[in-house]
Amino acid sequence: MRLAAACLAALALATPPALAQQAPAAAPPQFATTKVTDNVYVFRMMGHQAMFVVTPEGVIATDPVGFVNKKGGEIFLAEIRKITQAPVKYVVYSHHHYDHIAGGKPFKDAGATFVAHRNAQKQLAALKNPEIVLPDQVVDERSTIELGGTRLDLVYVGRNHSDNTLVIHLPKEKIIFTVDWIPIQAVQFRDLPDGFLPDWFEGFDRVLAMDWERMIPGHPGPGGRLGTKDDVRAAKQYMTDVSDAAKQLAAEGKCLNDEAMNAVKLPKYEGWGAYAMFLPRNVERFCEYWGRGY
Ligand SMILES: [Zn+2]
Repeated sequence: MRLAAACLAALALATPPALAQQAPAAAPPQFATTKVTDNVYVFRMMGHQAMFVVTPEGVIATDPVGFVNKKGGEIFLAEIRKITQAPVKYVVYSHHHYDHIAGGKPFKDAGATFVAHRNAQKQLAALKNPEIVLPDQVVDERSTIELGGTRLDLVYVGRNHSDNTLVIHLPKEKIIFTVDWIPIQAVQFRDLPDGFLPDWFEGFDRVLAMDWERMIPGHPGPGGRLGTKDDVRAAKQYMTDVSDAAKQLAAEGKCLNDEAMNAVKLPKYEGWGAYAMFLPRNVERFCEYWGRGY
């Protein structure tokens, strides 16, 4: 074994530089811009998505997605510049989590006004992360941006995956952009960190009551697809099923029993993203709620 290892090491040293530096043939591009309608686009950076809206009077961008790639904001702005030279007037944060909103500096330097929910501003002002541009304007229940013939309603539907998530609604285009709390055919992230039960369920009903047809999510759906109201209904049903399973465990006094929580299976959702990885953590979160009231 030692000899084999030594031989491999020698072989590695002997590898000609040209061969060593060869990149894998089919490396997927790290970012992409997709057109949804004449004026609405999606910018994707390594599994994170932001919407931007182009009007003759300026651009409204959303999350700068400069966390998975430090240059995310810069690249995002360059992608917008390939489409229009109109000024970026606004950057609207979906919610305050760094993985979506870090990297806004290039937009700030270009003169954009940053908008977020009031609770996001409060959290960000306390956290003082140097990668985050603080909001200039805040939204409470609802606010509207009208620019160059396009209208965006910024709507707060209550606490869910954070206490400051906005639904950005384009009534004419019947599109919404909202992030992280309505996964498309995927289970919820880990133990729903920063999440609020039971308020989350009310948010599903409020977003279903709005007039829209397509949802741009913060993480792409299967095959990169956008979401529909059926996806919202399915996400709500999944949370309901997890909640019911955990409620049953709580009634049996098994909510501190890892084995019992790990044994919960919901075969209906087996094909969903992160099912095996996160279902037990999702169950644990609801077990805390039903078993101990938090
Ligand atoms: Zn988040």
